[in-house]
Amino acid sequence: MFSKEEKVRKMKEIIDELLSFKKSPLYKYRIKNKYFPVVGEGSYSANIMFIGEAPGKNEALTGKPFCGRSGKFLDEMLSSIKLKREDVYITNIVNDRPPENRDPTLREIKLYSGFLDRQIDLIQPKIIATLGRFSMVYIMEKFGVEGKYSVGEAHGKEFIVKTDYGKLTIVPLYHPAVALYNVSNKKSLLKDFKVLKKYI
Ligand code: URA
Repeated sequence: MFSKEEKVRKMKEIIDELLSFKKSPLYKYRIKNKYFPVVGEGSYSANIMFIGEAPGKNEALTGKPFCGRSGKFLDEMLSSIKLKREDVYITNIVNDRPPENRDPTLREIKLYSGFLDRQIDLIQPKIIATLGRFSMVYIMEKFGVEGKYSVGEAHGKEFIVKTDYGKLTIVPLYHPAVALYNVSNKKSLLKDFKVLKKYI
């Protein structure tokens, strides 16, 4: 367990490293467009951590995760289980915007994963809710969940794993952007959110 001061100090180290993360292929694109890296937002002692994919344009312009349309939907889902952003921690697997919102590459995921790992170590969440395929695959592998799943198969299920700091439940969810364009995914996502309720 880290003290509040240690958490703030360690998070600042992550932010500073990301600001000068020149070895990333996305760094030049960030500078050219006057974008920010998007680290994470919320409580450093949150029980629930949400992990999305990568920042879109709104996020890169503000440095905040999920502040566009899918963010609005994420806020609605949070409030459906009486949570606010300040109660949880929200981050992404890749911290810089990929050009034209393309999917992050495997190389980019590998390159940025250390920042995510450090945020997990620091916050020590009891639940990780992955948003979409990329963070689900990374988190399931990282914590040794056996078998391979699609989001369609795994969404709303609870995968309990052991970590250095204790028990962790992984709950894969659809990405809110996908749910915005597909009514049945939207219904699933709203239903799956109820699973998180018992951990509040
Ligand atoms: N989509 C994501 O995966 N992350 C964000 O921060 C915004 C949109």
